[in-house]
Amino acid sequence: MDERALVRRIKRLSAGQAPGVVLGIGDDAAVFRPADGEDLVFTTDMLVEGVHFERDSHRPSDVGHKALARGLSDVAAMGAVPRFCLVSLALAPWCGERWVDGFYRGLMGLARSTGTALIGGDLSHSDKVTCDVVACGAVPCGEALRRGGARVGDLIFVSGSLGASALGLKCRKGAAWRRHLRPEPRLALGSFLRETLRATAAMDLSDGVSLDLRRLCEESGVAAELDGSLPIYPGATVAQALHGGEDYELVFTVSRGTVVPAEFGGLALNCIGRMVAGKPGSVSWGGQPLAALGYDHFRK
Ligand SMILES: [Mg+2]
Repeated sequence: MDERALVRRIKRLSAGQAPGVVLGIGDDAAVFRPADGEDLVFTTDMLVEGVHFERDSHRPSDVGHKALARGLSDVAAMGAVPRFCLVSLALAPWCGERWVDGFYRGLMGLARSTGTALIGGDLSHSDKVTCDVVACGAVPCGEALRRGGARVGDLIFVSGSLGASALGLKCRKGAAWRRHLRPEPRLALGSFLRETLRATAAMDLSDGVSLDLRRLCEESGVAAELDGSLPIYPGATVAQALHGGEDYELVFTVSRGTVVPAEFGGLALNCIGRMVAGKPGSVSWGGQPLAALGYDHFRK
């Protein structure tokens, strides 16, 4: 397997028309032409062997899926529609042809089902598999959902249920483990929040609601009061639901009086609290301060 053959294979896998893509893989750079009146949102996410996945327990197609799902979850949180991705992959000595094929199969499966074109990337080698995915989405000019728009009095909602990924990582079996391996970016919900509910702020839950909600509150300059009830994934603990990362659900705020349906596309939408005046970023849980114990790469 040499690099040219690999690029040819990736090019074959990624073939197809996509809106805005003028030139895809194969030249020095890709060319993308945004439609009139749209803003583009960009995000980049790394996936590192031994940090985000393990060689023994994660199939290559799961790794490929997750590498893109993390970026698309951010695109969803902005209320944007995916347009394209760029994928850079450093392969470890243990990676064979089958692993590489599986990785791109998993990644392209999610790319196709979400309308995300693969338009470029880079290949290299390293001691451990390291992957970086740049994802780009489009949103009508000025309408991207941000973390900083929540106001005192807004209600806080969360989609789905929390703690599945942390539970799956612990028990390594069943539906919770599959949720950990193959998170589904909440793209349709993100657009619904922007277009229909006019959410005041939104973000995706990658590091645990205790930490992510603090980030949203800091950006918005408000405090949050959680009433102490959470939609907890069956079998997960309260701690897993509060602090476990990688659920990739959306947390969002709406102004009081907004009618939020009990579910959207089969995904429950639950009110978990409200925004209040107070020290920006502080979050309380059932009347007590909630420590932000969610996942942080650099916490000692
Ligand atoms: Mg995010």
